[in-house]
Amino acid sequence: MSTETTSKTNGTLNGFTNEAIGDDHLFTSLDTPMKANAFDMSNEEKKKRISILFSEIMDVMGLDLTDDSLKGTPDRVAKMYIEEIFSGLDPKNKPKMALFENKYQYNQMLVEKNITFYSNCEHHFVPIIGKAHIAYKSSGKVIGLSKLNRIVQYYAKRPQVQERLTNQIANELKTVLETEDVAVIIDAKHLCVSSRGVKDDTSTTITTFYGGEFNNASKILELQNYLNN
Ligand SMILES: [Zn+2]
Repeated sequence: MSTETTSKTNGTLNGFTNEAIGDDHLFTSLDTPMKANAFDMSNEEKKKRISILFSEIMDVMGLDLTDDSLKGTPDRVAKMYIEEIFSGLDPKNKPKMALFENKYQYNQMLVEKNITFYSNCEHHFVPIIGKAHIAYKSSGKVIGLSKLNRIVQYYAKRPQVQERLTNQIANELKTVLETEDVAVIIDAKHLCVSSRGVKDDTSTTITTFYGGEFNNASKILELQNYLNN
């Protein structure tokens, strides 16, 4: 999978305007695009600012913010953005990884399948709901199984595109496990495709990363067999 960086200048992406890109989902780099000063502001301050700005969106849409049901919404949204659904933007929330020696001498592929995740599309800020399947072959080190799940959740809790999510998880696994032999398969439903736009409720999107020994037709077939059972 390509992780090539594309250039973005003057509101155009590789020469395409935002209007021309429309609903098509492009992504520009492996790293989530962040400002250099992204963490200068405290989380408390961020929540206050988001709450004020979200009130304004609701107000512009004509909603009555004095209504009992609506008045707490800006605070709820702000708290949810910072503490829950976008908490993976903050490197402080990255799961701590302890490596163990591979004492079991298990030297075949390990597959953790059907890891459910909820993310959000960075182009529309509506949910991406999917399953991630992870495989690796130990280089002599292993990590706890729950850590595979936690890596997925950390990168999912950002505004995302599925291609980047796939590559970010793969990259983290390669770094942590000190091996190129990792595979990541993601099958997800994008609410920006099903609940709006083309309103296709049946399609899902599959992205894959096959690194090292997994980038081989017989290994891919073996892995697919495990996933289909
Ligand atoms: Zn979208």
